[in-house]
Amino acid sequence: MDFGLSEEQEAIVENTRQFARERLAPGYAEREKSGVLPRNLALEMGSLGLIAPEMSEDLGGSDVGYLTSGLIAEAIAEGDFNISYIQLLGSLNSQILDRYASAELAQHWIPRICRGEIYIGVALTEPSGGSDAANLQLRADKTDGGYLLNGEKTSISLADQADIIITFARTGDQDSRAGGVSAFLVETDKDGIQTTRFDDLGEKAVGRGSLFFDNYFVSDDKRLGEENKAFSQVMEGFDFSRALIGLQCLAVARISMDETWDYIQQREAFGKPISNNQGVTFPLAELETQYEAARLLCLKTLWLKDNNKPHTKEAAMCKWWAPKLSYDITHQCLLLHGHGGYSKDLPFEQRLRDVLGLQIGDGTAQIMKMIIARQQMRRK
Ligand SMILES: Cc1cc2nc3c(=O)[nH]c(=O)nc-3n(C[C@H](O)[C@H](O)[C@H](O)COP(=O)(O)OP(=O)(O)OC[C@H]3O[C@@H](n4cnc5c(N)ncnc54)[C@H](O)[C@@H]3O)c2cc1C
Repeated sequence: MDFGLSEEQEAIVENTRQFARERLAPGYAEREKSGVLPRNLALEMGSLGLIAPEMSEDLGGSDVGYLTSGLIAEAIAEGDFNISYIQLLGSLNSQILDRYASAELAQHWIPRICRGEIYIGVALTEPSGGSDAANLQLRADKTDGGYLLNGEKTSISLADQADIIITFARTGDQDSRAGGVSAFLVETDKDGIQTTRFDDLGEKAVGRGSLFFDNYFVSDDKRLGEENKAFSQVMEGFDFSRALIGLQCLAVARISMDETWDYIQQREAFGKPISNNQGVTFPLAELETQYEAARLLCLKTLWLKDNNKPHTKEAAMCKWWAPKLSYDITHQCLLLHGHGGYSKDLPFEQRLRDVLGLQIGDGTAQIMKMIIARQQMRRK
């Protein structure tokens, strides 16, 4: 068992951290106000090879492997949690396009995603529910040369910023559930689609919203995978992004704890640094332990993927645990900063609101625990 990083990985992480420190961290709070992920930063990330870096070089990636991609997502999120969505969604969706789009379509879009020229989203959730995703209602009815999409998607990250969105729609009977769903590549600048934006608690630079489809035409060549097979084919890529989400959230925990270890040694109460109190250091020591374990789980999950081993259970573990742990750690760090932690002058309150979203996005803790239980019972 080797827990070390290669020299190449060390260099990639260091370069990404430097970029995150210098180019991303200073604007974290400001981007919450502007409510956008700036395109110039995406282009810079693209030029540094930080978006979907696990893609092959002929598709515009750097062929670095899944684990290294996770390390990059983590390093980006240390600077700005929201900006790391560009890498997260770029990686998740490029992988789907690589696997299920025609070679021509993949070659057209993936290099542009990697270069940071376009944003891509994924639309599964509908007003009637997200957990029971197989019950989706948005219709894709066959017409000459393609399909007509009608219905609504909701709670979609980057809804009003994405240039293309992988959209799941029902092509079978309503009662066909998972066996009647197909996926399509939807371009948002075409007729027949409108978007709205929610007023959310956090992740404001990413933004969530609804998509309304009214006879939106999508040609046959933009269907991803076989008709009615989107659930068994396209959705398997979600395991990968669950480990990325884990690292993305844990990055916020890491910087919050680093800042807090420094702060407690400087802040004095009762004539001595507050770090002299075990009531201050022990909660942090316990959270450091849990952080270490959760991070190793995320890295192991990506290692399993790199080695073509099953990792659905581990990915679900990352997804329910890491966002919650990150929230708990950030909360503790905020409290240890006293009244200052509650102010917008410090980043803890924004971090808390931002990481909270990923306890719901990409599937809730209950759904992840259902996946883990199902996997364990299947093994027995
Ligand atoms: C920040 C954020 C970003 C998102 N981004 C996207 C995106 O880009 N694309 C997209 O398609 N969706 C996205 N979503 C939507 C997200 O995937 C759904 O919100 C999520 O899957 C839950 O669906 P729901 O909100 O409809 O809750 P529901 O399915 O209505 O569930 C409500 C509650 O009941 C619980 N519950 C439901 N069924 C069970 C059960 N069988 N056992 C136990 N508990 C159960 C759930 O865990 C939840 O707590 C995002 C959500 C957020 C908050």
